[in-house]
Amino acid sequence: MARLEPVSLKQLAPQVITAIDSLKSDYGEFEMHPSQWVDHARVSEVLEELTTRLDQNFPFFHPNYAGQMIKPPHPVAMAAYLSTMMVNPNNHSRDGGQATTEMEFEVIGDLAEMFGYPKSHLGHLTLSGTTANLEALWISREINPGKAIAHSQGSHYTHTRMAEVLGVPSIAIATDDLGRMSLAALETTLKAGEVGVVVVTVGTTGLGAVDPLADIIPLARKYGARVHVDTAYGGFFRLISETLLDEESARHYRAISESDSVVVDPHKHGLQPYGCGAVLFADDKISRFYKHDSPYTYYASKEIHFGEIQLECSRPGASAAALWATLKIFGLSETGLGEILAAGVRAARNWSGLLAESAILDLYQQPALDIICFLPRVSSMSKLNEITQKIFELAGQGQKTEQIHLATYLVTHAELQQRGFDLENDQPTAKILRSVLMKPEHEQNVEHLHNRIEEITQIALES
Ligand SMILES: *Cc1c(COP(=O)(O)O)cnc(C)c1O
Repeated sequence: MARLEPVSLKQLAPQVITAIDSLKSDYGEFEMHPSQWVDHARVSEVLEELTTRLDQNFPFFHPNYAGQMIKPPHPVAMAAYLSTMMVNPNNHSRDGGQATTEMEFEVIGDLAEMFGYPKSHLGHLTLSGTTANLEALWISREINPGKAIAHSQGSHYTHTRMAEVLGVPSIAIATDDLGRMSLAALETTLKAGEVGVVVVTVGTTGLGAVDPLADIIPLARKYGARVHVDTAYGGFFRLISETLLDEESARHYRAISESDSVVVDPHKHGLQPYGCGAVLFADDKISRFYKHDSPYTYYASKEIHFGEIQLECSRPGASAAALWATLKIFGLSETGLGEILAAGVRAARNWSGLLAESAILDLYQQPALDIICFLPRVSSMSKLNEITQKIFELAGQGQKTEQIHLATYLVTHAELQQRGFDLENDQPTAKILRSVLMKPEHEQNVEHLHNRIEEITQIALES
């Protein structure tokens, strides 16, 4: 087996830049038009200002950043994106991007296989999880016109917003003590007969909770509703659901194969830069809803073009190329991309264990994936909010190498009570702390994170 070593964009960039320059020169040299010439010194100044200003961000790349779901793409994805961007194909049509259209069909095939979708699926990349979900909800509306979108209270806010865009009602279904859609509450809503599609979130954005998809599917079918799975964040955990996740979550991951449509974001857990979501439909017959005949998008070949089966028009071929190259290196398997995700799950479990033993911090709920929420042990809602905010701020201060960056998550008194926390109800909501452990390096770092946060909590409680 080949030796595996660390890698950086600096190592990979020269190869692809040289190769694309050579590809271009094969067509004959020509000079850049003077209107596009630049003053090199000025460009250098601007780029220096840019790279300096980029330090106004939190250090998303560092294991001490354990806040929101943000991390840089893998260097392989960046090198593939960079080289393809130099040609800038548009996956709207084959005319706009022949090579990258084929790569996109390959990666969509890989994603379909990961979810156990039939060969007759239809799907494509999108610019985001938002547009991917919009597209699935639009198709649902066309199939079940006028009917509501049902989603859990823990689902992404995009579903309520997109229901407004689509002009259909939306209904938020209550959640249980692990933030998962309540089956009883869903059935009550389905019985009224007004639901056209149930949005099932497999890995909620806030808590990483897994809605009971395997049990929702027969229920939705019974009442004639479609089932759309929003697994924008959690989709790639399918790779390790059988081996590492709890049995209950694994059962629901398996059931994705029985859903009508599914959304996954390669720009979240697929090592890609932003601008890469994906939507898949189990039945390719939904393609009839996309019919258009515009005079300006002529297609030179008879093969299928993404423009004929997607809501968006222009899309970067570079996204398809970057995902394609990444999946050649880290395949959609337990030992490929799965290993990267597994490290985050273990990190979340290890930190959960440390939190459960802490005298001053407590775990909000057991994590299903790699997102954990925790809180200082205090007696009232107002105190909780105050101490959480103090911990959040103190942790992010000081020397760059000392900083720890967390996120916060807003909970209600009832949600805390549901999980066995008995706090004085002196205000309706309070912030708790939240960490998305999506970088595999977090696995080696949780003990340090925990110890520092305990120290800081002690200071916050005493001040
Ligand atoms: C992130 C996310 C979205 C929105 O996707 P974007 O790519 O940010 O537009 C929707 N649903 C879930 C569950 C998500 O985690």
